[in-house]
Amino acid sequence: MTKPKPTQLSRRTFLYGTAAGASLIALHPFSAQAAANQVHLRVMETTDLHVHVFPYDYYSDKPVDTVGLARTASIVADIRSEATNSMLVDNGDLIQGNPMGDYIAYERGMAEGDLHPMIAAMNAVGYDAATIGNHEFNYGLDFLTKSMARADFPVVLSNIATRQGATPRDDTTLFKPYVILDRNVKDGAGNEHAIRVGIIGFTPPQVMNWDRRHMEGNVQARDIVDTAKAYIPEMKEAGADIIIALSHSGIGADAHSDGMENASVPLAAIDGIDAIMTGHHHLVFPGAKYQATAAVDPEGGTLHGKPATMGGFWGSHLGLIDLMLENSGGAWQVVSFESTTRPISRRNEDRSITALVESDATVIASVQQQHDETLAYVRRAVGKTSAPLHSYFALVADDPSVQIVSIAQKWYIAQMLEGSEYASLPILSAAAPFKAGGRGGPDYFTDVPAGDVAIKNVADLYLFPNTVRAVKVNGAQLKGWLERSAGMFNQIEPGASDQVLLNPDFPSYNFDVIDGVTYEIDLSQPSRFGAGGEPLNPDASRITNLMYDGAPVGDDMEFVIATNNYRASGGGDFPGTGDTIIFEAPDTNRDVIVRYIVEQGTINPSADANWRFKSLPGTTVLFDTGPAAKAYVDDVKGVKIEEAGEGPDGFARFRIQL
Ligand code: MN
Ligand code: MG
Repeated sequence: MTKPKPTQLSRRTFLYGTAAGASLIALHPFSAQAAANQVHLRVMETTDLHVHVFPYDYYSDKPVDTVGLARTASIVADIRSEATNSMLVDNGDLIQGNPMGDYIAYERGMAEGDLHPMIAAMNAVGYDAATIGNHEFNYGLDFLTKSMARADFPVVLSNIATRQGATPRDDTTLFKPYVILDRNVKDGAGNEHAIRVGIIGFTPPQVMNWDRRHMEGNVQARDIVDTAKAYIPEMKEAGADIIIALSHSGIGADAHSDGMENASVPLAAIDGIDAIMTGHHHLVFPGAKYQATAAVDPEGGTLHGKPATMGGFWGSHLGLIDLMLENSGGAWQVVSFESTTRPISRRNEDRSITALVESDATVIASVQQQHDETLAYVRRAVGKTSAPLHSYFALVADDPSVQIVSIAQKWYIAQMLEGSEYASLPILSAAAPFKAGGRGGPDYFTDVPAGDVAIKNVADLYLFPNTVRAVKVNGAQLKGWLERSAGMFNQIEPGASDQVLLNPDFPSYNFDVIDGVTYEIDLSQPSRFGAGGEPLNPDASRITNLMYDGAPVGDDMEFVIATNNYRASGGGDFPGTGDTIIFEAPDTNRDVIVRYIVEQGTINPSADANWRFKSLPGTTVLFDTGPAAKAYVDDVKGVKIEEAGEGPDGFARFRIQL
């Protein structure tokens, strides 16, 4: 018997309301259409929750409407209230990714029998199954297994084994590779049927590198597609009527390559899989962020013609796959489907956010205590800094607020590249001041005094949720990168007084300081690049005396630079970026800074003055910064600076002798 090709309905929903019109319930057309031998099953997905239960940003210490399972759970409740048959699954990256996760891992710990707040919240919502994301391994295997032990739902993962056999089916896996759930469903005539739903889970095999210190010697990973090809027939033999893949893996290349990180497309091609829940990319599918390929239909929400969904991240969306199942000759098959997502909030044209649902009170109550404890945690010291962390002089001298970011990035990348082909290259680190006055105003600076450092201070050090990247560049690209940064400054006439130093059109986040080399910036020269990165004076050079380890940097020397995903992928159009990435980290720069501070206890981010302006005798420039800078003026290294009265709009003015 040939399987009929699934068809998709147009995106219609039938709306009917109460007489008062107080609430509208969306009834999916499949429910209305289901015949006596047909079952409408709604499969809901959350993914990449990263410990976001409350609608709260713990870094900025304030409520937000864009995140939180408490909100997504309200959509789940709506769908359950009108669906004849529904299931809810989670796609992984649960227990790490915000300060609540760090609080449990670093402070409270997980003793035998402890209930992790993320699991408590999920138990309150009620899940049918979940899989394990790459971030689940961040705190070690013991922490992971204890966290999952209290889940009221099965946790499946097929491609990580504590002992590998000859084939995947011979492996001793860390979690159950799959489950087959017996469910009673109602058909269109209201008759009950028993149906067996197979659920299998996958995580990127790259976890072996990303969390090497926890994994090596304890577990081994297999390719996602190879593992699926082994288990799917076994699940069919075991009686699965339909199979849903929980793929904590993105929507990447159509073609399978061994060990690929984002394998959801070739996974979907495997016979026997009926629907694919995806994640890891923190994007929305169906959605415009994905491009159509021979196998990917980003509008229709299919991979190889099968329904797929990705529910954003941090609870931003619920992924939803509607399946119309038909029983013919005793076998259930998917005869039509629809994939969609439902957001918890809307961004308005003026960039304001409107919440589309309220928090589920039961979910809030399930983690209220840990939420309160996390608030106390982000507000109290987790480490100490021996130097003040401020950005008042970050644009005119090497600066502690930039230095700490560089130090933490370099520390992290050195661990990640250990044992790789790049391990012998020098590791440099690029970081820019994000809060440096400008259009943000005279108070828009990082300012953490020496002494205690709290988690919420880290948000002040690193504003954006970027992830860490490493690029490999040669000496010429390194110099070009710094030339691009040096566009921060106006060209200065030697011997003249009180010229304006900063180019107001140049954003401070594009002023990368590169740590690990020493250099001078010659302000008498024109900038090689314009403020947007466009070539201006291709032969000009402001960067002089560029040295590594006391010797001049040659054009052919090779370096690794630790940076972020924005820069590495070509943001700001810097030389040496765009096609030079050698390592894509799963961790955010912010998480890496927190981890560095927690592990070091006391940090010493004193600037090492590895860059300075080239001396131009008899020349002075003016520079405006926050008035609170006056307290630190004597600490600034590598530049002769004095107060020069008031600037405009509440800024303070300083004079620099070049
Ligand atoms: Mn994630
Ligand atoms: Mg992930």
